[in-house]
Amino acid sequence: RNNAEKFEFQAEVSRLMDIIVNSLYSNKDIFLRELISNASDALDKIRFLSLTDKEVLGEGDATKLDMQIKLDKEKKILSLRDRGIGMTKEDLIKNLGTIAKSGTSAFVEKVQSSGDLNLIGQFGVGFYSVYLVADYVEVVSKHNDDKQYVWESKADGAFAISEDTWNEPLGRGTEIRLHLRDEAQEYLEESKLKELVKRYSEFINFPIYIWASKEVDVEVPADEDDSGDEEETADKTSEEGEDEDAEKGEDEDTEKKPKTKTVKETTYEWEVLNDVKAIWLRSPKDVTEEEYIKFYHSLAKGFGDEKPMAWSHFTAEGDVEFKAVLYVPPKAPHNLYDSYYKSKSNLKLYVRRVFISDEFDELLPKFLSFLKGIVDSDTLPLNVSREMLQAHGSLKTIKKKLIRKALDMIRKIAEEDPDESGGKDEKEVEKSSDNDEKKGQYTKFWNEFGKSIKLGIIEDASNRNRLAKLLRFESTKSDGKLTSLDKYISRMKPGQKEILYITGTSKEQLEKSPFLERLKKKNYEVIFFTDPVDEYLMQYLMDYEGKQFQNVSKEGLKFGKDKTNKELKESFKELTKWWKGVLTTNKADDVKISNRLDNTPCVVVTSKFGWSANMERIMQAQTL
Ligand code: ADP
Ligand code: MG
Repeated sequence: RNNAEKFEFQAEVSRLMDIIVNSLYSNKDIFLRELISNASDALDKIRFLSLTDKEVLGEGDATKLDMQIKLDKEKKILSLRDRGIGMTKEDLIKNLGTIAKSGTSAFVEKVQSSGDLNLIGQFGVGFYSVYLVADYVEVVSKHNDDKQYVWESKADGAFAISEDTWNEPLGRGTEIRLHLRDEAQEYLEESKLKELVKRYSEFINFPIYIWASKEVDVEVPADEDDSGDEEETADKTSEEGEDEDAEKGEDEDTEKKPKTKTVKETTYEWEVLNDVKAIWLRSPKDVTEEEYIKFYHSLAKGFGDEKPMAWSHFTAEGDVEFKAVLYVPPKAPHNLYDSYYKSKSNLKLYVRRVFISDEFDELLPKFLSFLKGIVDSDTLPLNVSREMLQAHGSLKTIKKKLIRKALDMIRKIAEEDPDESGGKDEKEVEKSSDNDEKKGQYTKFWNEFGKSIKLGIIEDASNRNRLAKLLRFESTKSDGKLTSLDKYISRMKPGQKEILYITGTSKEQLEKSPFLERLKKKNYEVIFFTDPVDEYLMQYLMDYEGKQFQNVSKEGLKFGKDKTNKELKESFKELTKWWKGVLTTNKADDVKISNRLDNTPCVVVTSKFGWSANMERIMQAQTL
């Protein structure tokens, strides 16, 4: 085209496209899920804008927020059109090629190692999956702020953008045209498309139409003789001209012999493929497990076989009303703790069924940002800007309730896990038939998200005790398994007042620690904390159920009354004095006779409020 401007794809994007084009990945269907998801996002955006400015929707057909699919068998084109927000020329350049998303290289790496393209949507590059089935793609788009443009590319490292002077005007929105590869012609079959749309659009909140063929019965002239046919046609034409003579003629004809017969004819019409329903508005008892799992997959932008670990569907009533569905995903996302403080909430916020945003940080604290789900509020105002919503007082109440519900949901994973029983839980382990599935679930949860619980203890003072209940660790008595504070307390020795722990780099290293010699001999249980975050954690977690924590490598460890202590102190007085002199004040605060050791002659103990040796090590590693 003579008005086309050429652009090169950003290098990582180009690499990704090469991989997609040459991929042997068999589940090519996923491209449609990605296109529908993008169209739905675009529709959400224009609907959101229309809340504060009705004008943006325009008039007539443009006000209908829907998607339309057409199949052109002759030209081998599959097209999906939406009446969403559309893209300006600049949007097309940036979004479809020149700006690499943060997930691009992470996804390239993942695909190269696993060959699995299914999770493409989660990495923010779902659009490029169209090249699984197409060798040439056109994106026609019209945004309210710009003219209509066409983006096109054959995935050869470059794309072109032209002002659209030849297609039908879209009004507003985007039409994606896939020129299907020879081996992808199955996507021109209506039945195939209907099946796929149904699978991928179950929870899409906008109607999806397909230009569907329909066999209809039509009356046509009987073709006993060809000349009769022509006569009939002639009659009809004259009818329109209100020729009374001709009408009479027809009547006479019909009386003589039946001149028509019924044949099948193909006509086309828009057929709607999804029924737009919101799962969270239904009563939890009417929603099946399968529906919850499917809904999770639609939120998670990935349709793996993995089930979410748990979910909670509830209605909050009172001052602030909302409905919510929360999920614990089966796995932590690839970068959960790399960019923890930058991570965004994964909840979708709706106000009276209208999607508002999925970047509302006011809904959940950082430590719960791994949860997925939706919140639909009846209390929040609809016709205000995002900024005003963000400042709305109800959000605090919603957040508080969501945290409670989330922690309940996590607690239940533990309660229902047969491996966990023996703890101090009021509730019975649920129906035995589920036991197999629930067995080991909490360990799985802990391995994926345990760090979030620890970060929660550090960050959220008001829920510290609830979170501490969810804490798991190994100890000198846990036998290689995870144990909890409640179980620890249930095993405490009579007269033991404190919860004992030690910090270090690994359980193996800690088991050899001289600090444990005497404690082990006396049958005290000591918790192993081996994650660097544990040092910080223990600065915030001072007590649990009225019991203080004591780091056994620190000053202050007591063994009850020990009569020999006084005598020993006396007889070693001179030696300790001498040592104090040798270790001048900046090397040691004090030298003491202690009963915490068994075989080892002496040990360096940290003062009560000082850094433990392990903390020193962590801080040093950080400054390096
Ligand atoms: P993601 O949807 O995760 O952002 P994609 O690769 O699927 O990643 O899409 C890239 C971007 O292209 C989108 O963020 C959006 O800005 C734009 N886009 C894609 N399809 C459409 C569409 N149908 N209407 C408007 N914008 C779109
Ligand atoms: Mg997308």
